[in-house]
Amino acid sequence: MVHLKTDEEIAIIREGAQILGKAHGEIARLVKPGVKTSALDKVAEEYIRDCGGVPSFKNYNGFPATLCISVNETVVHGFPGNYELRETDVIAVDCGVYYKGYHSDSAYTYPLEGVKEEVLLLLERTYESLFKGIEQAKAGNRMGDVSCAIQSYVEAFGYGVVRELVGHGVGKNLHEDPEVPNYGKRGKGVKLVPGMVFAIEPMINLGTRNVVQERDGWTIRTADRRPSAHFEHMVAIGEEKTEVLTTHRYIEENYSFKWRSRSR
Ligand code: MG
Ligand code: MG
Repeated sequence: MVHLKTDEEIAIIREGAQILGKAHGEIARLVKPGVKTSALDKVAEEYIRDCGGVPSFKNYNGFPATLCISVNETVVHGFPGNYELRETDVIAVDCGVYYKGYHSDSAYTYPLEGVKEEVLLLLERTYESLFKGIEQAKAGNRMGDVSCAIQSYVEAFGYGVVRELVGHGVGKNLHEDPEVPNYGKRGKGVKLVPGMVFAIEPMINLGTRNVVQERDGWTIRTADRRPSAHFEHMVAIGEEKTEVLTTHRYIEENYSFKWRSRSR
């Protein structure tokens, strides 16, 4: 069942999403070769708690950390730890904030400065696909319009669209209805109506779309071990317009490698 949000609820989520955006910005300052992924996690948790929030992911179904950190062939749900970033890595950072009774959720994939051109392009196009999806996320459309916009954009480049994981409604629960697949048919699926709040999060692979789960029960990686990209924003569907609640602004201000050719 989809829980539609009132304007008051959306205002709270908007506030939480700002804390989330700034937590991402704190992480962005630190992303560079030699940094341990656990160091990023620590900074994010401290920042969120200092702002009066709680990390949404920590202890969620037993997840051990504030951030999901997914390097290279890891698609999502990687654990922060002793791994030190290398200059040829891409690192996806997913974070959630629980604030005044509501969650917010967003993700960003960083290329380090030594990544190959084909991987930079994967990131650029995955980022673009997120906005192709957002453009279709409007009252009167159906979820399939969002899904199809993402899928058709990235598949034209030969990339694999992960099927096993999807975007989701967000609110009092981190994961609510509706599901937001990154594949689907135009004109199909749930009708989008004002008050819906959901996360759109393309997970796009350079090679095969197939993924496998590691024995830790969480980490999802590509079956062919080629890199993957993940970007996520939350939107609120309004009568007239759709609002993007989360922000990557602080990441873009603070990350030293200005890798995108076009800003959003
Ligand atoms: Mg999400
Ligand atoms: Mg997320």
